[in-house]
Amino acid sequence: MNIYLSIIYLVATVTFITGLKLLGHPDTAKKGNQIAAGGMGLAILGTILLHDLEVPGFVYGLIGGAILLGGIIGYVIAIKVKMTKMPELVSLFNGFGGASAALIGLVEFGQNSGEISQTVTILAAIAIGSLTFSGSMIAWAKLNGTLWKDIRLPKYNLINNVVLLAIIAYATYMVFTGTGSLVFAVILLLSGLLYGVLLVIPIGGADMPVVISLLNSLTGIAAAITGILYDNMVMLAGGILVGSAGLILTFAMCEAMNRSLINVMFGAFGSTEVGGDEHHAQTTGTVKKATVSDVAILMNYAQRVIFVPGYGLAVAQAQHAIHELEQLLENKGVEVKYAIHPVAGRMPGHMNVLLAETNVEYDKLAEMEDVNPEFQNTDVVLVVGANDVVNPAARNDTSSPIYGMPILDVDMAKQIIVNKRSMNPGYAGIDNELFYNQKTSMLFGDAKTTIQALISELKGM
Ligand code: NDP
Repeated sequence: MNIYLSIIYLVATVTFITGLKLLGHPDTAKKGNQIAAGGMGLAILGTILLHDLEVPGFVYGLIGGAILLGGIIGYVIAIKVKMTKMPELVSLFNGFGGASAALIGLVEFGQNSGEISQTVTILAAIAIGSLTFSGSMIAWAKLNGTLWKDIRLPKYNLINNVVLLAIIAYATYMVFTGTGSLVFAVILLLSGLLYGVLLVIPIGGADMPVVISLLNSLTGIAAAITGILYDNMVMLAGGILVGSAGLILTFAMCEAMNRSLINVMFGAFGSTEVGGDEHHAQTTGTVKKATVSDVAILMNYAQRVIFVPGYGLAVAQAQHAIHELEQLLENKGVEVKYAIHPVAGRMPGHMNVLLAETNVEYDKLAEMEDVNPEFQNTDVVLVVGANDVVNPAARNDTSSPIYGMPILDVDMAKQIIVNKRSMNPGYAGIDNELFYNQKTSMLFGDAKTTIQALISELKGM
């Protein structure tokens, strides 16, 4: 390989690692993204200009056209996408990554020398790439609400595992017979697509974060495999980084959702009746309603207030309003913090990103483990558009589908105000006993409008 190209790949790999490191903190995340993107741009340019293959001139035109088209589409999507739609976008990107690995595998299958290690790599690219593609498309449809029901075939875990074993057996057969027939490869691709669909359709809403990060990690693995295929170091390094980062995230999500990875891998996830249908839950008992002025008075005289943002805050785009409320209260001498649950919202880190957009100081964002012991010394907790992540059933009710999921212990606070529009359940589709707690008052209304009303009320005090 051209020595300059090797150096470029090395530099690009260093930028990926540096970028990942910087992505670990909201302060430096933007810079990290730019550095890694710059490294990727450099690697692409270097590959196009410094490769040692003989290619006809029109190929450069095709590559340029594809980069331009993809660049424009990517730019427009990234500019337009709403924060609440980010998980869908991530799923689409995962899916496209998988699809390219599968297509590369198919193309290379035609050129296969028959060497066992090469065949294994090609078949792995086809199988993993295709299942990542179809699984991500189903995840995308679930997240955007097109596919709102969890479809469970009878004995779906058994079916899934049989299909997986059949795919492995079939691929092994292909390796040892050394078949070069494209029909075999296409059958493998179709089986991969089928398995991806079967894997994701039964999964309940509250397990989706685990699935998304698992698919993310599979995309990385698929990319790493294509890196091996092309003997391309930067593709391999990039793939390994995405694969391992995705796996670390999967572990973190498993922990936040109280699922073990083994449980996830062997098809036991989603076996609880959660997710999808927002109207499943039974609402029982009576709730206390509060008015905006009740809550304003309560906060005005509080010493410590904790805000708990959830998906509803993102939907209502109330992040700027809540930041203004925080500053107003701080000016009145009230100590304010935000309690951030790792899976609040619809993707990992959703709340951190949303609040970072409004320049909330990072030291005001408290992680679940750090803030939980503080609730008992908190005068008022204001839950804004969060539901599942504050549901005490996760602690108390062994029959609850979210039992065991770590939650924010807001029910330990002296007063709890819950702002949402109705008694409808959250993503997991289950009732929330917090709403019936003696210390809880419901402040019904859209998050943004309600917080703005609270601000005006407080300003008049
Ligand atoms: P939930 O989905 O549990 O609850 C959100 C609440 O917001 C709803 O109860 C809804 O009630 C309310 N809401 C919606 N719109 C508005 C609005 N405009 N103004 C005020 N309130 C509104 O969200 P949480 O953040 O508590 O929990 C996240 C859930 O999503 C968990 O189950 C988690 O597992 C899951 N999930 C998380 C992912 C992640 O990685 N973070 C990924 C995928 C799923 P109402 O309709 O009455 O207003």
